[in-house]
Amino acid sequence: MTRTMSGGTAALRAAVSGPVHVVGDAGFDDARRLWNAAIDRRPSAIVECLSAADVAAAIGFARREGWEIAVRGGAHSIPGYSSCDGGLVIDLRRMNRVVVDPGTRRARVQGGAQLRDVDAATQAHGLAVPTGLISHTGIGGLTLGGGMGWLSRMGGLTIDNLVSADVVLADGRAVRAAEDENADLFWALRGGGGNFGVVTEFEFQLLEVGPIVQFGLFFWEESLGREALRLMRDVVADLPRSMNAVPAAGLTAPPAPFVPAEHQGKPGYALLLTGFGDAAEHQQVTGRIRETLPPTFDVVTPMPYTALQQLIDEPNAWGSHAYDKSGYFAELTDEVIDVLADHAPGKSSPLSVLLFYRLDEAYCETGEDVTAFGGERTPRYIGFFIGLSPTAEMLPAERQWIRTLWEALRPHMMSAGTYVNALEGTDIGEVVTAYGGKYQRLAAVKAEYDPDNVFHRNINIPASGSPTP
Ligand SMILES: Cc1cc2nc3c(=O)[nH]c(=O)nc-3n(C[C@H](O)[C@H](O)[C@H](O)COP(=O)(O)OP(=O)(O)OC[C@H]3O[C@@H](n4cnc5c(N)ncnc54)[C@H](O)[C@@H]3O)c2cc1C
Repeated sequence: MTRTMSGGTAALRAAVSGPVHVVGDAGFDDARRLWNAAIDRRPSAIVECLSAADVAAAIGFARREGWEIAVRGGAHSIPGYSSCDGGLVIDLRRMNRVVVDPGTRRARVQGGAQLRDVDAATQAHGLAVPTGLISHTGIGGLTLGGGMGWLSRMGGLTIDNLVSADVVLADGRAVRAAEDENADLFWALRGGGGNFGVVTEFEFQLLEVGPIVQFGLFFWEESLGREALRLMRDVVADLPRSMNAVPAAGLTAPPAPFVPAEHQGKPGYALLLTGFGDAAEHQQVTGRIRETLPPTFDVVTPMPYTALQQLIDEPNAWGSHAYDKSGYFAELTDEVIDVLADHAPGKSSPLSVLLFYRLDEAYCETGEDVTAFGGERTPRYIGFFIGLSPTAEMLPAERQWIRTLWEALRPHMMSAGTYVNALEGTDIGEVVTAYGGKYQRLAAVKAEYDPDNVFHRNINIPASGSPTP
């Protein structure tokens, strides 16, 4: 599929209103950069689209010229699916407008917006879309894979709040997908990734959130790992729906002002606790944690929701070298805790961490067949095992650490696959397992909307349903 530039880019420049970057242009290297510094792809051209018409023109150009296409939202795909070597990147970053209607509690969000754009616009009205934990993630890739974060217990996945999507298809047609229009496409977009077209605009229903929410971080030193993780499990089991918690293992205490100097840079275990309801509710859980196993240090404070959404942006900044794996767990059993406590100290990079998001309550209230999301809607944790190193040289050790840990945890994972937004996607067997019984239906929708697999720079579902060799 990959082609080098054949007829120059004058035709492309003439066809679109946004800037086009080609090899040798000033700014080309900056434009081709992805969040994961370990991925270094060199497309022939990058078009920064300004409209759905630009997207259609870019697709048409690439197809006529026989170029591979990659679609770039927030560029957070860890395997680097939002770029390609020698093809065309359809870059949506300038399509980041968010328009909120507080009357209907709906937001229209362009396909290249970042989570922080969505949060800023919705919070101006005390509203929010449940999304992810890092505000520079793209709404595009996050939504199309599912989307989970602080509000998953209260509001479900991002896709559970999607009302409609405007999509440019492989043949250049612009269509709307919703329950009452192209319903099969709407189903597939909610979990099936970028396989079916380029989403130029999402429409979300909104929840009332904040603007002030509660946050707590409780940190225990490494020697207290097993007790701390057991306490976190017990706390999470009793949380009201308006609260959420992320247990973290192998977390290095940051050089932040709230961390006592003697603990900065030390690895340990932490519980991140959020509250979106009554402050007293949060204080009660805080009290229980402090009484049961006094943390090495903690910080508990109200803060704006937008600040919560940006709280861990910095350790996840652009420019790290990343590798990740994930898995679903019915519970943080003693066996899981033993594996975590045995392996967490083995990391080499202070940025690496093992995080567990809780999925229950609203997450479980969307019917199994309503969306294409592969994870079953039963209460669970998803573990994100994130290797992040400041240099390329350190990444192999982090990758090996994650793989060894993941193998040790594997017998304790739920049998069904994992979250496609944390999948490498190179093993088709893993992709089929991630979607389970929904895989063949997704392949049928693919056959209808993108039979030639124009959109394959993603966790790919070929129209045939069979892996491409
Ligand atoms: C630091 C970090 C933190 C994360 N935190 C969370 C989290 O808290 N919760 C969570 O659920 N996930 C999280 N993720 C995973 C994240 O959801 C995925 O990496 C997601 O694919 C990122 O979307 P993006 O638009 O930024 O990425 P991109 O790399 O731009 O795109 C990813 C894929 O989606 C496609 N795509 C993007 N936009 C569109 C569009 N508009 N139309 C069609 N296709 C499109 C791309 O072609 C590509 O295949 C995190 C990832 C990172 C790196």
